[in-house]
Amino acid sequence: MLGAGLAGLSAALDLARAGLRPLVLEAAARAGGVVCAHTVGGLDLDAGAESFAVARPATAALIDELGLTDRVRQPSPVGAWVRHAGGAAPLPALAFLGIPGRPFAADVRRVIGLPGALRAGADRLLPVRGPDRSLGALVRTRMGRRVLERLVEPVAGGVYAADPDVLDIATVAPALPAALAEAGSLAGAARQLRGAGGRPGSAVASLEGGLHTLVPALVAAVTAAGGTVRTGVRVTGLTGLSGLTDGWQVHTDAGTVPARHVLLALPAPVTRELMPDRIDHALTAALDQPVAPVALVTLVLDDERLDAAPRGTGILVARRARGPGAKALTHATAKWPWLARAAGPGRHVLRLSYGRGAGEVLPGDAELPALALADAGELLGVPLRPGDVVGTAVVRWDSALPVPRPGHAAAVAALRAAAAPAGLTVVGSAMAGTGLGAVIADARGQAAALIASLTAAGCGQFNATGGPGAGPGRAGWSA
Ligand SMILES: Cc1cc2nc3c(=O)[nH]c(=O)nc-3n(C[C@H](O)[C@H](O)[C@H](O)COP(=O)(O)OP(=O)(O)OC[C@H]3O[C@@H](n4cnc5c(N)ncnc54)[C@H](O)[C@@H]3O)c2cc1C
Repeated sequence: MLGAGLAGLSAALDLARAGLRPLVLEAAARAGGVVCAHTVGGLDLDAGAESFAVARPATAALIDELGLTDRVRQPSPVGAWVRHAGGAAPLPALAFLGIPGRPFAADVRRVIGLPGALRAGADRLLPVRGPDRSLGALVRTRMGRRVLERLVEPVAGGVYAADPDVLDIATVAPALPAALAEAGSLAGAARQLRGAGGRPGSAVASLEGGLHTLVPALVAAVTAAGGTVRTGVRVTGLTGLSGLTDGWQVHTDAGTVPARHVLLALPAPVTRELMPDRIDHALTAALDQPVAPVALVTLVLDDERLDAAPRGTGILVARRARGPGAKALTHATAKWPWLARAAGPGRHVLRLSYGRGAGEVLPGDAELPALALADAGELLGVPLRPGDVVGTAVVRWDSALPVPRPGHAAAVAALRAAAAPAGLTVVGSAMAGTGLGAVIADARGQAAALIASLTAAGCGQFNATGGPGAGPGRAGWSA
């Protein structure tokens, strides 16, 4: 298995539990991929993903299996805000991916105005037509430009770093078309998918101590079940053995490993590079998707004026909003009460993210901290002072956010159909789209299919030379 992000690790857990003793090779010095930690201003903080969507149950299910349920924490119920072309306002409570469940609700009208609400209300009158493939096209057609630009674009942009017009519905919201057909309106579909509650802040959860604390528990579970996770081993190539089903030589910077079956759980550009010629190039279009670079700036600062959480748990910034270059700000100490306690009175953690799409050139590391401080002051309505900052970090993710274009889900199916007979399984956000719920569910689904096929082929023992302690150059290899 290649890559020890959440996709690779959760697939490894199931393969190990099935008795297949997987070997996971990870280039970085630590497992977890985008789920990782750093220390800023003396606080251990998430450096990548920091919460999981509760609407997709796969992350919570994994957390339960790992025995971490009692560490799950809900965010503060104060909710998040959006800054749009007309000002700033709290995000509507009842919404799915920014699509309002009740277009005439007061909190929706506060963002899109009465004309926007009237246009959005037309959704109820429009017939449900065949599949719209881009999220943007669907929302614009049914609810109009204001819902798209002031609600859906900032929310979807915050998650996918992409314009909704280039996002594949079947990947980013696979349940939406069926919900739309059933409810007869987009608002009805949003209500259905969000659940009746719609409390602000109730759509995500995390772990006390940070989401990154999931990773050591997951690695320990993989190891306890008979798998091996080796970090600091970069995979550099795959060579197919002579027959279609004879297996692979996995080349790494630490030697070569024979493998009967290879599961790739890598960022899209790396999988693209490693994909052997044996797989017809015409069938690998799913890997040609653009990737959006993102820079995260974390500021830890002492400023009691922020105790009042002036923008709730944070604020999303619409493309057309004038002013700040950041696309989102998370007020982490306002969002997570456990973090506020750990930080202590008057100390705050702000996380700003930059990057709205593939190909964007982001500001350099030298500029970002000052830019982020100015943006944070403007977004929070509280001018912030450089002298109050006690810690700053800039983290860049250049290839971790693939942009699933319309047609992506079909391209993934074509790639998988071509790869499986050759002994290759491809998982991860490159296939499933961004988000832990999607990535974990997809990886575990692919692992289940692989277990079924290997068991049917009588391959349960084929890794007899591998197992704990095995490594490149001297080990067997499975899954
Ligand atoms: C900044 C940021 C914030 C996010 N926040 C959230 C959030 O709050 N909630 C949420 O649900 N989702 C969030 N996401 C999305 C989510 O984190 C990802 O979709 C998910 O973690 C991807 O998991 P993965 O295993 O597919 O990929 P990755 O985590 O990217 O793992 C791939 C692994 O492959 C390794 N690798 C790369 N090249 C090689 C090689 N040649 N050989 C061996 N190993 C290699 C990498 O080092 C890495 O460990 C965020 C994403 C980003 C970028």
